Amino acid sequence: MDTLKKPVLYIVIPCYNEEEVLPVTAPMFSEEIESLKSSGKIDEKSRILFVNDGSKDRTWKIISDLAKKDERFLGICQSRNRGHQNAVLAGMMEAKKYCDITITIDCDGQDDIKAMDEMVDAYLDGSEVVYGVRKKRTTDTFFKRFTAEGFYKFMNFMGAEVVFNHADYRLVSKRVLDAFADFKEVNLFLRGMFPLVGFKSSSVYYDRAERIAGESHYPLSKMLALAFNGITSLSIKPIRMITFLGMFFAIVSFVGMIWALVSSLTGHTVAGWASTMCIICFMGGIQLLCLGVIGEYIGKIYMETKARPRYIISEKTYEEKEDDK
Ligand code: UDP
Ligand code: MG
Repeated sequence: MDTLKKPVLYIVIPCYNEEEVLPVTAPMFSEEIESLKSSGKIDEKSRILFVNDGSKDRTWKIISDLAKKDERFLGICQSRNRGHQNAVLAGMMEAKKYCDITITIDCDGQDDIKAMDEMVDAYLDGSEVVYGVRKKRTTDTFFKRFTAEGFYKFMNFMGAEVVFNHADYRLVSKRVLDAFADFKEVNLFLRGMFPLVGFKSSSVYYDRAERIAGESHYPLSKMLALAFNGITSLSIKPIRMITFLGMFFAIVSFVGMIWALVSSLTGHTVAGWASTMCIICFMGGIQLLCLGVIGEYIGKIYMETKARPRYIISEKTYEEKEDDK
């Protein structure tokens, strides 16, 4: 006799201009929900929640139509494009009202949907956070692979600990989401924040496929922005590095001063215009760089003190339910 209540699963899927992809992947997600249901692992009330991130194409129309035809599909719409991280957050916070576990996944079919089986198993075994980790990146182009793997290494070097090759394909329990809701920061870097929440976690490994259709919305520029955001949101190592750099140059300058003094006293001074210029430029450059990094942090503080809403939901495909469980 199975007295344990089966968990209600909500699959949270951010979508931005995905009209080409959604009609192909939506049935793949509902198939997975069905297969998990029929193997008795999840509750009948499990759903797929799409988050339209202010798409400019027909994405919201497709989501609304899916929701009308099939009760397994739900959709919420952000009031404008706020970026992938905010869309995922909006979806998780919405899903948290109705479910026991969420799995976040991209809508482009790149992440192996079947890995959800193992994720749910890991949850049933006691893990509250299950990270989806890419095995290898053979389907990515050399450039994407190189930049993406460099991203994780650089992040760790800079003191922002992230699970290597884990993006945002992740199972999170409601308990963890309740704790996570207290992380009020505006600068989101979800994959670095969940390890901070704690709770028992594990990893599931999968192969990453190619995008089913359309193009990546994460070009190098956005990836660099994400890496930068991740580092400055999670770590103060860059500021500390600046302090050490400052100390190092202070010592060098001090030694240089003594050397200059001794040289002039012993009458060895030469017309050193070039070397003076070099030093001025070099020090000026270093100072500007350091100011820039410090400025980044001040910018972050500025944004955090405003505490603007991290997402605004403008529409839903369903009525707000009191308690759906
Ligand atoms: N996405 C989003 N808002 C954005 C950009 C992307 O919600 O501003 C979604 C997108 O629809 C997809 C996921 O985030 O489901 C990942 O984006 P993409 O596949 O373009 O990135 P990649 O897999 O190439 O890193
Ligand atoms: Mg993708």
